[in-house]
Amino acid sequence: MRPAPARVGDPVDAIDSPALVVEIDAFERNLAAMDAFARSHGVRLRPHAKTHKCSAIALHQVARGAVGVCVQKVGEALALAAGGVRDVFVSNEVIAPTKLARLAALPSDVQLAIAVDSVVGIERLAAAIQASGRQIDVYVEIDAGQGRCGVPAAEAGALARQVVAHDGLRFAGLQAYHGGAQHLRSVAERETAIRQAVAMATAARAAVTSLSIDCPLVTGAGSGSFLLEAASGVYGEIQPGSYAFMDADYARNAPLPGSPRFEHALFVRSQVIARHAAHAVVDAGHKSHAIDSGLPTVWGRNFEFRNGGDEHGLLHPRGDEPLPAMGDTVWLVPGHCDPTVNLHEHLVAVRGGLDRGVVEAVWPIDARGRLD
Ligand code: PLP
Ligand code: MN
Repeated sequence: MRPAPARVGDPVDAIDSPALVVEIDAFERNLAAMDAFARSHGVRLRPHAKTHKCSAIALHQVARGAVGVCVQKVGEALALAAGGVRDVFVSNEVIAPTKLARLAALPSDVQLAIAVDSVVGIERLAAAIQASGRQIDVYVEIDAGQGRCGVPAAEAGALARQVVAHDGLRFAGLQAYHGGAQHLRSVAERETAIRQAVAMATAARAAVTSLSIDCPLVTGAGSGSFLLEAASGVYGEIQPGSYAFMDADYARNAPLPGSPRFEHALFVRSQVIARHAAHAVVDAGHKSHAIDSGLPTVWGRNFEFRNGGDEHGLLHPRGDEPLPAMGDTVWLVPGHCDPTVNLHEHLVAVRGGLDRGVVEAVWPIDARGRLD
């Protein structure tokens, strides 16, 4: 493991580069805003931990009103549980018996849930759970419009019936997440996509209850759409992840009317290592930030970030602002927060702003690389 890029009490300038920094005042405002939203709309908040992969942050979210967290991978569940998180929903299909056995072997005081979308998945899950003697909440996933996992709404009842047939599996409701809707730029596009997702969730719930099976909860939604699911009256839980950090790509979405404002709270600290007539070079390339959703933006400065390869970024002036000097700190806002976090081992939490702040904590990204 890389040595931590900073120590508690360090001024921001002493943080190594490139390093991933959480502006903790903005981060806490983001958490408070989402908590207030969920409370006032009567929905449960279960943030997605795929964004931060960090048990310290998951515990912060729970302390701020979240009922628990979501993860995508069994390995993430194991890492977060080892870090003290006690309520984890694997919002994804897992069918490998070896993985299911690892999940089932978690301490019995960890409240577990998982998504399923096949009879094979249910049977393998039931076998693993039976061997462990524990109980697990099971959500039948429907395809809410993304065309990834999940069954058509009409098939949800048949799968729910399979779930309730097994001791140890508790049918907890429906997983109905529309990932494809999150980054649709216009309000109208997202409204249309989520209206369809809500219609499918409604039909799926009817398919379940028509078999006299109770459907306790519909869960789903991300940072781009959660207002719409929360307003639907159908979803009882939302799963946003990126709101805690707000990446450059999410900032390109037109905000939904009435949306809480989320601030950029995740930055890469880079520094200038070369300076030329028309551009400067920083020590952060795409091994320090994911570029699947576009290059980083340069925080508070009028420069364009251009791709300099694995370890370099090129800063080109957009206006008259002089190029930064050798050694100057340049703060980058990553294009996509989740895969950026996965490239790092620590999150450096800075209190008091990026200009003159002080390191308050250094959080290990304890679920990084957990693809298992
Ligand atoms: N729920 C599920 C199942 C997801 O896969 C994701 C992200 O991909 C989210 C919630 C959170 O989405 P976001 O980070 O866009 O808020
Ligand atoms: Mn993402």
